[in-house]
Amino acid sequence: SLSDRLQATFKKLRGHGKLTEDDVNEAMREVRMALLEADVNFKVVKQFIKTVKERAIGQDILETLTPAQVVIKIVDEELTKLMGDTQSRINMSPKPPTIIMMVGLQGAGKTTSAGKLGLALKKQGKRPLLVAADIYRPAAITQLQVLGKQLDIPVFSMEQGTDAVTIAKNSIDYSQSHACDVVIIDTAGRLQIDEKLMKELCDIKSEVHPHEILLVVDAMTGQESVNVAQSFNDALGLDGVVMTKLDGDARGGAALSVKAVTGVPIKFIGLGEKLEPLEPFHPDRMASRILGMGDVLSLVEKAQATFDMEEAKMMEKKLRKDEFTLDDFLAQMQQVKKLGSLDNILGLIPGMGGLKKQLAGQDIDLDGKEIRQIEAIIKSMTPKERANINIINGSRRKRIAMGSGTRVQDVNKLLKQFGEMKKMMKKMKKMQKGKKGLPNLG
Ligand code: GDP
Ligand code: MG
Repeated sequence: SLSDRLQATFKKLRGHGKLTEDDVNEAMREVRMALLEADVNFKVVKQFIKTVKERAIGQDILETLTPAQVVIKIVDEELTKLMGDTQSRINMSPKPPTIIMMVGLQGAGKTTSAGKLGLALKKQGKRPLLVAADIYRPAAITQLQVLGKQLDIPVFSMEQGTDAVTIAKNSIDYSQSHACDVVIIDTAGRLQIDEKLMKELCDIKSEVHPHEILLVVDAMTGQESVNVAQSFNDALGLDGVVMTKLDGDARGGAALSVKAVTGVPIKFIGLGEKLEPLEPFHPDRMASRILGMGDVLSLVEKAQATFDMEEAKMMEKKLRKDEFTLDDFLAQMQQVKKLGSLDNILGLIPGMGGLKKQLAGQDIDLDGKEIRQIEAIIKSMTPKERANINIINGSRRKRIAMGSGTRVQDVNKLLKQFGEMKKMMKKMKKMQKGKKGLPNLG
């Protein structure tokens, strides 16, 4: 990955005094290749390398920093600049309703993002209305209706055969009579850009005059997303980009190039299929994430919103003293579950990319069912067993399985997972200690 490559490159940089041109040139060769491989637009790469080089050559190496850290810092800052300082704000109309149009290719995540955006706005006290204006796939309307039901957000649709412009137009009247103050129009997409699609979107635009046109792009499409953004921007004039599927193995390149090439800011990111509020895009965090340092700030922010800080502190203390028990494990898992999927969380922790890969094959799955099972198993243990798993021998395992209505292998699996988690936490703790000397790159 881009981050692995960059980190490997920076490890090679050794030396003292000033960064020499040779040092920098070698690092930049790697950076260039890594960025191109990550699908960053070549013009963007060229400009980027030039800027970083100019800044890096002759840079004093402070006593506390290694050359690698100096270059990382510059690369990090320049990556941040490249993605723009954007505020993830929707242009709110002073007079309701605010009209938002979601556009993009098929499968990009428009419908999902419309729902997530609705949820985010609802959390801010708004009253959103979702509008089903994708008329070409009957399933699309149903999809939005299901989503609306799950999120408890009203959905406006019209009978089959109604054209998208009429639907959009009528939805505005509907919003006014139903006291909705934000209208989110979910439009149709095509597999590729074509005139018919653009014309329909332009027609909707000139009918309802949206305050915000958001292009939804799939981060997995790499370089192509830049072309897509360019075309939509030329035809419609975009206010922002929602970049979805950044939870997957998306190459970071798209996020890097879109803003640089089109000038349109990325405003939100999608981090999963689950219906959570759409997340604001932070260029600085994305830069550190691309560099492989993990999105610590996002994690902390998420954690603060969810975790009981007192409890978290206590856990940490217990962990330090190695008194972390299965009871704590259960509580922890329940907290972690609130944060989202384990995959999401590991991606957010610096250096955890590797562990994430390791765990991927291990079937550690934190959905509700699993948690309930874990809960049942732990509750079937005696307090002594919970405090010290070493005493849980074969016959105890059998008893616990019986008591919890699970199988012995489920009990075994849980005990193994608990062991893994303890190990993982030790690792994280070590890493945090190691981090102290590093410059603040966030
Ligand atoms: P649309 O055709 O643009 O409306 O796309 P949809 O909203 O129907 O999404 C297409 C597929 O991508 C669905 O299976 C979604 O669950 C999935 N999807 C959307 N956003 C994300 C995301 O941020 N991460 C992941 N992993 N999947 C997503
Ligand atoms: Mg859709």
